Amino acid sequence: DAMTMDIHYNKHHSAYVKNVNDAIAAENISFSTEKDFFANASKLSAKAKNNGGGSWNHNFFWQVMAPSTGGAPAGKVAEALNGAFSTFDKFKEQFTQAAMGRFGSGWAWVVNDNGKLKIGSTANQDNPLMDSSELKGTPILALDVWEHAYYLKYQNKRNEYVANWFNVINWDEVAKRLG
Ligand code: MN
Repeated sequence: DAMTMDIHYNKHHSAYVKNVNDAIAAENISFSTEKDFFANASKLSAKAKNNGGGSWNHNFFWQVMAPSTGGAPAGKVAEALNGAFSTFDKFKEQFTQAAMGRFGSGWAWVVNDNGKLKIGSTANQDNPLMDSSELKGTPILALDVWEHAYYLKYQNKRNEYVANWFNVINWDEVAKRLG
């Protein structure tokens, strides 16, 4: 809904961006790419790591959503998901389990790990690009399961938020990330 997205983008995401920039300046962090920044996440301060993740994860999240895209993907995304998870319904079930099973705040992901699609989740603002992450790979889809992402509309019903989110996945953007 509009109010959730307004606060999410203009307050939450905005704060992550400000705070990571403050940390980069204060700590003289000089990685030239996002990839290098996250590959060295375990050596960063908590402020740099958490807010760097928060900045990147939300940038990604906005791009893989669009208004009312509804339902299952077609073309190469459908083929890739069917190849990895057998059917779209099975994929949806596993992804929903990852989103529901993340205790507390975090993210559910689909990643490409050396050509193999995997579903998993990370805590807080961690992401699969971080050297410290158990789930590794190039993200192709992400879902924010922090309460700030759904609480105004759905309160404690994360399951309804996850179910309805499947109607706004931008499969064209997912296709681009699939390569
Ligand atoms: Mn968020």
